[in-house]
Amino acid sequence: MAGQLGFHVQQDRCIGCFTCQIACKDKNDLEVGQLFRRVREIAGGGYTETGNNAFRADVYAYWISLSCNHCQDPPCVKNCPTGAMQKRPEDGIVFVDQNKCIGCRYCVWSCPYGAPQYNPQIGKVGKCDFCRDLLAKGEQPACVAACPMRVLDFGPLDELKKKYGGTNQIKGLPDPNTTKPSILITPHRDAALGK
Ligand code: SF4
Ligand code: SF4
Repeated sequence: MAGQLGFHVQQDRCIGCFTCQIACKDKNDLEVGQLFRRVREIAGGGYTETGNNAFRADVYAYWISLSCNHCQDPPCVKNCPTGAMQKRPEDGIVFVDQNKCIGCRYCVWSCPYGAPQYNPQIGKVGKCDFCRDLLAKGEQPACVAACPMRVLDFGPLDELKKKYGGTNQIKGLPDPNTTKPSILITPHRDAALGK
């Protein structure tokens, strides 16, 4: 493989505007209920009474924008019985050939990130394919181009690592050892593990 492609997410800049999600939905002409990229708010914490009617606030909230992570060990590919879900050898993009998809949903159940989307109207699964048609024209994926905060970037994973560092696990995401996701996140201060 020439170089596994991946996404970098500068999470501490994300304002939850949903532009990436909408740009993806528009590019892929998705039906209501179908999302190849999702923006989620994660919030928690609370108030601790410290005495004398005083309270300490430990609340937090942050956004995360996620699509398929084009995993290096993808269970969706391994568990697809027809070979419809494939990993491209040259750059590691995981995509579904809908001509071969029989809609069994094994990939949906296999993915810990909820990336493959079953479309009941056509009885097949679709998912992020890294906008490979745009990449072939030398353009950026639609989500990367659309983000007004420059949260998203893409490229060979080793180059992203050198440029940004980052981590493939933050609070709330599955154990990356399961699928080896091709994602690097520069976490929001409250999303970093151990905080
Ligand atoms: S994120 Fe899910 S659909 Fe994407 S490659 Fe990994 S396991 Fe497959
Ligand atoms: S477009 Fe950028 S800032 Fe807006 S939700 Fe997506 S990642 Fe966050």
